Amino acid sequence: MHSCQGGMNIGRIFICWLCWLCGPAWAMDVAAVDAAALPHGAQSLTAYLSVLEDEGGGLDFDGARARDAEFRNAGKADEALSFGYTRSAFWLRVVLRNPGDRPLERLVEISNARLSDIRFYQPDVDGRYHVQRSGSAHPYATRPYPNRYYVYPVRLEPHARQTIYVRVWSEGAKLIPLTLWEPAAYAAYQRHDYLVQGAYFGAAGAMMLFNFVLFLTLRDRLYLMYVGFVFFAVMALSGQNGLAQEWLWPGVSGSWPNTAASLGFSLSAGMLTTFMRRMINTRMVIPRLDRVLVGLQLFFFCAPLATLFFYVQTAGPITTLWAVSAPLIMVIGIVCAFKRQRPAYFFTAAYLLFFLGNASSSLAALAILPHNTITNYGSQIGSCIEMLMLAFALADRVYVMRREKEKAQRAAFAAQSDLIAGLQESERLLESRVNQRTRELKVANEHLAALSMTDGLTAIANRRRFDEVLSAEWARAARQHHMLAIGLLDIDYFKQYNDHYGHQQGDECLRVVAATFKAQLQRGGDLVARYGGEEFAFVAPATDADQALAIADGVCRAVAALELPHARAPGGTLTVSLGVASWMPLAGEAPDALLRAADQALYRAKQLGRNRVEVH
Ligand code: GH3
Ligand code: MG
Ligand code: MG
Repeated sequence: MHSCQGGMNIGRIFICWLCWLCGPAWAMDVAAVDAAALPHGAQSLTAYLSVLEDEGGGLDFDGARARDAEFRNAGKADEALSFGYTRSAFWLRVVLRNPGDRPLERLVEISNARLSDIRFYQPDVDGRYHVQRSGSAHPYATRPYPNRYYVYPVRLEPHARQTIYVRVWSEGAKLIPLTLWEPAAYAAYQRHDYLVQGAYFGAAGAMMLFNFVLFLTLRDRLYLMYVGFVFFAVMALSGQNGLAQEWLWPGVSGSWPNTAASLGFSLSAGMLTTFMRRMINTRMVIPRLDRVLVGLQLFFFCAPLATLFFYVQTAGPITTLWAVSAPLIMVIGIVCAFKRQRPAYFFTAAYLLFFLGNASSSLAALAILPHNTITNYGSQIGSCIEMLMLAFALADRVYVMRREKEKAQRAAFAAQSDLIAGLQESERLLESRVNQRTRELKVANEHLAALSMTDGLTAIANRRRFDEVLSAEWARAARQHHMLAIGLLDIDYFKQYNDHYGHQQGDECLRVVAATFKAQLQRGGDLVARYGGEEFAFVAPATDADQALAIADGVCRAVAALELPHARAPGGTLTVSLGVASWMPLAGEAPDALLRAADQALYRAKQLGRNRVEVH
């Protein structure tokens, strides 16, 4: 199917803007169009048009016809005339001829929905011209043929030539694509076109609804921005291609249909920039370029005000700024992608595909690319893919957030495990410390116990230990019917020793006597103790009186053999006296009796001259 009916898109606005900068080129010689031979049922009329520019816009039909000689061929093989943002009105003239023998029904289509005022002049059989006036500034019902574009039925009698005049005026860009159609081909094209448009707006509506529900559920404003973006993109495209006027506001007249499209473009770009800033977090990622984005946002959100109040004056400059900002956003997206921002991959891919879609339409319009479904509907396809890619980006965001949450959970779990391990470790440490302290305490206690049983001066057992051992051995001897012997030792004339040699020398003497005494009782089970002052004692289990006497005797002689000088003793050396006692304890008897007996024996040894042993 033919062709040039992709409709106005952003790329074409761009071309229009370029033409506005360059100015139109004129040429002469216009042929009549053979309306019978339409390749594929349609034929662009651009190359067959003659144009008269009416700068003041004041020329009426008769005035224009009077200047028939001043009409010039536009000289373009392209499918649209383009006059940019001039304030002039344009008179177009085209000659159709029917070389055949039968009358021909044809349609003339002007496929730019944003032309404000179109007057279509067509002669009747008598050659009298009738005007049909429509355009975006007029209600939809003024159109002679119901379509999103402006379509005029034409009837050509056999072998007739017919000259048609069209006056076009618009507030915005004057891109004028004229096409001659064979009605059946147009009907087929139209069905296809409405299907594609319906699919696009259906997809956009579904995306909006779905993401709005996501916003309500997730409360993430990003989804709302996305919905806003799609909403305004739909507003822009439906305003651009005439569907809005056909379906949304057919009764409206004036500049609203054009304004709505411009507002849609500005606001969708603003929403997209807002979406981009939030999704890529550009404020953190590229703080300096982010300020450029803020500037763009400001422009996109303020441009609608200019459009509302000064549409004619600002449409050109605003389009220029759009043309600059579109690649700028793309570059910033690419910078973010190079900074390895995952959302930027999606965003840039989405934007790139959108861009390619529009570019394909523009290149087809410039006859660089062939016309086919993809290039004709480049804007819709690009926009649809962009919406999908951005929805992917939103889905990916959920995936990334879930992954981060899992990572945080793992980290928390690891920290918890570390904590538990730490607690177990410190518990173990504490336990081992307690054990060590307990052991140390036990040793200290044992040491203390030993100390409490030891005499500090002589380092042999003390009186308390002696009493313990005596009563234990006493009980055992009573149980086992053994003899138990004890002996008491007292140093002779020790008072005088102290007096003569001093108390310190006396202490030294006590240590020597204790060591000597202990050395004499090496048998296991025997105990030597300091009984008090300069008195010592021994306990010897299973020892009878004779054996005890022998032990005591050995001690007495051992001390005497030391020959420690004692100036005040009669013999001149230190001696000791001992009293011993031994018997088998009776049940219920106390050890005191044995002690008393030994004491009496000691007393007797003293009485009998000292340095001797007496037995009880
Ligand atoms: P006897 O031959 O009758 O035993 O005469 P003695 O002088 O030894 O009389 P006694 O046994 O009563 O003397 C006890 C003296 O022992 C009194 C005190 O000065 C001395 N003494 C008691 N304990 C200590 C001590 O720990 N160190 C010193 N240096 N002297 C002590
Ligand atoms: Mg004494
Ligand atoms: Mg004494």
